[in-house]
Amino acid sequence: MKFFLLLALVFVAVWLFRGSRRRDLPGAPPPTPGTPKADGQAARESVVACLHCGLHLPQSEATSGEAGWFCGDAHRLAHDRVQPR
Ligand SMILES: [Zn+2]
Repeated sequence: MKFFLLLALVFVAVWLFRGSRRRDLPGAPPPTPGTPKADGQAARESVVACLHCGLHLPQSEATSGEAGWFCGDAHRLAHDRVQPR
């Protein structure tokens, strides 16, 4: 009889242990301080429009001219040719 009691105790201990382990494995990991910051920076990057062709692109990929933003050097030079200073 003591053997069955010990066996039941072991089963309960294993069941509780596995239950607590399952709670430690969530479907979505909790947000770490670094992850939202990186996502926020990518989402917050401003979009500019090329003054020559109107193409919208991230500001980090745009070329800045005296008049504003351009999609590339070719359009910056073309815009300067159309509207010389
Ligand atoms: Zn352009």
